Amino acid sequence: MNIYLNANENPFNTVDRNLINELLFSFDYNRYPDLDYKKLKSELSRITNRKVENIIPTNGSDELIQLILLAYSKENENILSHIPTFSEYEKISNYLGRNFIGVKPKKNLKVDKDVFIQKIKEYNPKIIFLCSPNNPTGELLKEEFIEEVLNTSNNMVIVDEAYIEFSGKTNIKLLNKYENLIIMRTLSKAYGLASLRVGYGLTSEKNIDFLNEYRMPYNISGISQFIATETLKLIDTKKYVENILNEKQRIIKELKKINIEYLNSESNFILIKTINNNGVLKALKENKIFVRTFNDEYLVSYIRFNIGNREENDKLLSILKDVVGNG
Ligand code: PMP
Repeated sequence: MNIYLNANENPFNTVDRNLINELLFSFDYNRYPDLDYKKLKSELSRITNRKVENIIPTNGSDELIQLILLAYSKENENILSHIPTFSEYEKISNYLGRNFIGVKPKKNLKVDKDVFIQKIKEYNPKIIFLCSPNNPTGELLKEEFIEEVLNTSNNMVIVDEAYIEFSGKTNIKLLNKYENLIIMRTLSKAYGLASLRVGYGLTSEKNIDFLNEYRMPYNISGISQFIATETLKLIDTKKYVENILNEKQRIIKELKKINIEYLNSESNFILIKTINNNGVLKALKENKIFVRTFNDEYLVSYIRFNIGNREENDKLLSILKDVVGNG
């Protein structure tokens, strides 16, 4: 059986399949989906405590990144983020002809905050992407730093909170203070709905109206809107998050025992440094365990895996112990 620990997904099924099967039977497949996502937005409003006017649902938060870049920047304009981080900020910037600038990390791979602020002043970027907790390092950015960024730039500042449920520390309240802030969220991680492709942005009504100008109509399928809405009504993410965080602690204890270097993570994944990367990767591959590897200069000797269910984690740990444990 394949074990997927490479995409930071929730290992648990969060959807009530019986209910959905029943409801899908009578679904109006011949009709276009709701253009305004009324039901979905009403549930998103409930879980975030923001008004529906302050929410824009998108086809995964990947699509929101593209929308933001299209709406708030033009070709050759500067886009700033810290590296290493989620690769799509750079990838989408590049294919849209924007000029992506990645601010190098400190030795410990944490964001170099002083240099970051300096680069904002130097390049005056049209859009700044902050990822917190950061994928793949797991670093949670402090509110003071995010505010410093917001106070340094008059342009758009995006805080990607894809993994926020695992850290429990959101920046939502900064939305009351800063018009140039967009918070990105997703149902693909803690909510366990990656396949539905539902992400959303939280920002001022003015920004939502502006973003909507660039959004394709019906960008989320009716079925996705429907299953996401029904699941949001029922789901208690706390129990999944708790399980994942407990498993994370258990894994960290074991990593310590076998002296594997890891980065503290406020998320559902861990970045580890392996002594003999190839040996580990070979053993994981042979056992059909999929993990994330990287080509860039900062991460070549690292492997990222997300926390799976207990059985999956045991399998991963036993391989790490075998290959690295006595190294
Ligand atoms: N932001 C971050 C930081 C991510 O890690 C991911 C998925 N790996 C996304 C956004 C995109 O998620 P989705 O498109 O599934 O909402």
